[in-house]
Amino acid sequence: MYKKIIIDAKKAANAIFRHPWIFSGAIVSKDFDLKHGSLVQVEDPNGRLLGVGTYSAASSIAVRLLSFSEATIDKNWFIDQLRKADEKRRLFGFGSKGETTGYRVAFGEVDGLPGLIVDRFDEVFVFQIATAGMDALRTEIVEAIKEVFAPRTIYERSDLPSRREEELADEVGLRFGEEINQVEFKENGMKFLAEVANGQKTGFFLDQRDTRTAIRKLAKGRKILNIFSYTGAAAVAALLGGATSILNIDSSDKALASIADNAKLNKISTKKFSTEQADAFTWLSARNEPEYDMVIVDPPALIKSRHDLEEGKKAYHFVNRAAMRLVKNGGIFVTSSCSHYLTEEDLAFTLRRASVQNNLNLSLLQVIRQPSDHPFSVYFPEAAYLKTFVCRVGR
Ligand code: SAH
Repeated sequence: MYKKIIIDAKKAANAIFRHPWIFSGAIVSKDFDLKHGSLVQVEDPNGRLLGVGTYSAASSIAVRLLSFSEATIDKNWFIDQLRKADEKRRLFGFGSKGETTGYRVAFGEVDGLPGLIVDRFDEVFVFQIATAGMDALRTEIVEAIKEVFAPRTIYERSDLPSRREEELADEVGLRFGEEINQVEFKENGMKFLAEVANGQKTGFFLDQRDTRTAIRKLAKGRKILNIFSYTGAAAVAALLGGATSILNIDSSDKALASIADNAKLNKISTKKFSTEQADAFTWLSARNEPEYDMVIVDPPALIKSRHDLEEGKKAYHFVNRAAMRLVKNGGIFVTSSCSHYLTEEDLAFTLRRASVQNNLNLSLLQVIRQPSDHPFSVYFPEAAYLKTFVCRVGR
């Protein structure tokens, strides 16, 4: 039914063990008229079906398997996948009726939907497409979201640099329902605004939910510095947890301006927080006094590809070294990395080195990974990217 790709028998094990990627080097032959972005059936040289996926003529990941058995990829298939994905989230209480109405409904390969992310903010759904194969299935995706969730709005935020590798232009805009910029949703009872149309990513960093929970627990009575604050989600958690004050640093004026809106939604006094627009690296370079009872550092991915590894590690070292020395004796240091290429061991080593250079002693209190709506998969460990270390600083 679909065009065919035959892959090397020796490379078939990966797919048999349900890893969804097939690299171009594994291909032995393919139908001559197989087009970039089309659906494809993958077989081994003996005619054994390995799965059905999307084909890319541009990427080194030639096929992303959507299914490991025969399948017709249509609206009904997406409906099934989205239902299964959402059922998993509901086990943890995510959903429009609970205390957390903002969550990731579908996380690409982890949910059998390579190239597709769907985030939910109450009744508003935001999706992001990364591959040419998924891009060709936009109509089916939108129809399936409508059918499964009966949403108020569906918005597309496919503005990812990685789309260039798939020869795709950005696609951003309203796909269904009422036009909106911002939407209010709940996270563990806190109220936040997602900047769906103009914010970063899909409008909110849902993946740091468990870090915010830890911050809220530890914040009482503390004077806090929040570096790379974005729209102040961690600041809201800290202030609701009893922080005395929090200074938020970010390079984005727009993100900083939204902190007041998020604070107001949670009835937090404007006297308790302040903002400063700055490049965090420059800002940190100019300071070294231990002034804070807690410092939070949550940079954007400083290592985007394997090529950036060495430079990126240096950047992590710099921010961590500079930020941890601003913590008072007995204070808390919360540091995150969302770079897939920086492992937990790498971050630990960075902190070890930086703490010795600063003559500080760190005790690891908690390690936080991706929350239960963004897990990695046993079949796809590449989905692991986020790690947060919560440390006590001793002087
Ligand atoms: N902690 C936030 C998410 C942080 S995302 C939350 O929980 O919502 C990373 C943030 O770093 C973004 O808001 C981005 O604007 C900001 N940023 C990126 N580069 C920066 C730089 N050089 N200096 C300061 N902020 C920067």
